[in-house]
Amino acid sequence: MSRSLDLAEPAFSASGLPYSPRYDEAYHGNEDSLERARHIFLAGNGLPQAWGGRDQFVIVEAGFGLGLNFLATWQAWRDDPKRCRRLHFVSIEKHPLTSEGLAAMHACIGAPAALAPLAAELRAAWPLALPGLHRLEFEGGAVVLTLAFGDIDAVLPRLVLGADAFYLDGFSPARNPDMWQPPLMKRLARLARPEATLATHVADIAFQRGLQAAGFALSSAPGYGSEPPMTVARFPAMRGTRRQPPPSAAAWPERHAIVIGAGLAGCAVTERLAARGWRVTLFDAHDGPAQLTSAHRAAAMHPHLSSDDSILSRLSRAGNLQALRTWAGLAAAGHAPGWQGCGVLQTGAGVEDADIQQAALAALGFPQAFARWMSAEEAASRHGAPVPHGGLWFGQGGWAPPPEICRAQLARAGAAVTARYGSRVARLARVADGWQALDEVGMVMAAAPVVVVANAYEALRLLALRHMTIDRVRGQLTTLAPAELARLGEWPDCVVTGTGYLLPRAADGTARIGSSYEPDAQESGALDARPAVHAENLARLAALLPALAGTAASLDPAMLSGYVGVRSVSHNRLPLIGRVADEARAARDAAALSGARLRDIPRLPGLYAALAYGSRGLTWAALGAELLASQIEGEPLPLELELAEAIDPARLLVRALRQGTVAGGDVPAEPVPG
Ligand code: SAM
Repeated sequence: MSRSLDLAEPAFSASGLPYSPRYDEAYHGNEDSLERARHIFLAGNGLPQAWGGRDQFVIVEAGFGLGLNFLATWQAWRDDPKRCRRLHFVSIEKHPLTSEGLAAMHACIGAPAALAPLAAELRAAWPLALPGLHRLEFEGGAVVLTLAFGDIDAVLPRLVLGADAFYLDGFSPARNPDMWQPPLMKRLARLARPEATLATHVADIAFQRGLQAAGFALSSAPGYGSEPPMTVARFPAMRGTRRQPPPSAAAWPERHAIVIGAGLAGCAVTERLAARGWRVTLFDAHDGPAQLTSAHRAAAMHPHLSSDDSILSRLSRAGNLQALRTWAGLAAAGHAPGWQGCGVLQTGAGVEDADIQQAALAALGFPQAFARWMSAEEAASRHGAPVPHGGLWFGQGGWAPPPEICRAQLARAGAAVTARYGSRVARLARVADGWQALDEVGMVMAAAPVVVVANAYEALRLLALRHMTIDRVRGQLTTLAPAELARLGEWPDCVVTGTGYLLPRAADGTARIGSSYEPDAQESGALDARPAVHAENLARLAALLPALAGTAASLDPAMLSGYVGVRSVSHNRLPLIGRVADEARAARDAAALSGARLRDIPRLPGLYAALAYGSRGLTWAALGAELLASQIEGEPLPLELELAEAIDPARLLVRALRQGTVAGGDVPAEPVPG
């Protein structure tokens, strides 16, 4: 997908209607725009009746525009006593407006005053104009809007979802032929669940043929008012066998999951499942949540940026945005997670790095509120950060204490979670209708259809997978007490990163320098802070803020205190999030799977991983949890296909199958006696 977005500006036709100069067409017809939306898109898809009594209903829209169709649909959902439990509306938009632009346009659509409160909520939640998917929740999460900013041609193949209804609302084929081409119709068909419906005001013959060729059964319906007949269509239930049918709504025997690990990863999953009506039994071997790596008092979060908008950059952007929205939602629900959005300054190692950073910013064209350049002068004068040269400024970045995030998520999950602290799950056993968690002596601790393994490197013991690695990497931070900070004199009020990082003063007056990155093979011990590593951290401080180097050198590392954690890191440092592979079956079928893609890999039903968050626990936790919960429920994924695949726990297995290094007899001894 292209890196920067080509935004729409608010504009109006001679008669005052919201209008697109780019396509030379009005967004909506006339003062009956709400009635028109209801007629064409809702009634055209048999709504609201079609979603009646369903657990989940998924609408895909081509062309979000001003969001009128979304607002009309949301309003209809609200008004319908038989509404589905969860409504997903996934809408693709190549030229989004900003929230201010939306406000200007909303003010000029006639009639939908009834929608004004919903429109205001939409604008308040509106994301920055960044490419990719943005998931917004309304009605306490029962109405989920996933905005896909980008060209429909590039977006559709990357969506992972099963659609129950389609709204096709691009500008007319005469003005915008790209939106109505036969290949696009095939891409829609790939997403169509059996009996999915489709509606549009367009009745162009070439377009209709494309729809038919893609497998939709067409009929005509009266147009709105005096408009010509419109097109409605249905995707037949028995449309041959599709090699990759779209995900269907899940049907678990009960909504009960075992989550193993009460750190950032597990608490986030617990909250997301609870929000979807699941009961969660949460196990942790320690005597409370956030006891191991997530015990960290202060962790920083900022997006990764690269001029080619790499997979890591896109993933980390999605993770940052999802985390900020999730934490804002927690705070709004009265469970503030302690997020400090002070901003993050990322400095390079020298002038050359600064040039590279500025070139990346220019190439990406992202909104300044997301990332911009900050000069050394501005950093010093506005943030008390006397850096030697400027850097990237992430205004939405900051830091948080992971234990507070965990506590907030568990509080939000409320009675849905049964926490079993001090309980080590020793083994998982697969049984007819799910999984059992067993203790050291083989006693059943809990049983559920779904298990999420979120216990970092401990998971290797539980899962015993041959094609998944998690390394332990020790990290030590140095805590500066108020007295030491007083000697340094000046301390930034934002996070400063580069070769190491500095965190601003916390409420207790302490600040932190991070962090070492020490591969650590030891299973235990090694968690005492070492003076030698404090000395390295003081050197990091001196490199980031040379003005403080002299005073930093005068601090005695032996007198400093700190925090030590052990990161869990995968083979390529990206996390392991998703369905766990059935390695035994893959090994048996190794020959047939030698050219397999991730989607072909057999999986262990009901077993999911949320692991290897490495140095980016804050970035991955909320996104990973939303991804897993969506996979578990068969809902649209909040990530594009290639991003979900980049963090798939089975990726090393796929590589081994391709390399022919998974032998027929290569069957793991554990974990699952039936
Ligand atoms: N459904 C909208 C509403 O309810 O307000 C109105 C949609 S407007 C008629 C058509 C929209 O399609 C515009 O916002 C336009 O930017 C978008 N669009 C045009 N070409 C596109 C493309 N190739 N990919 C994605 N969106 C596109």
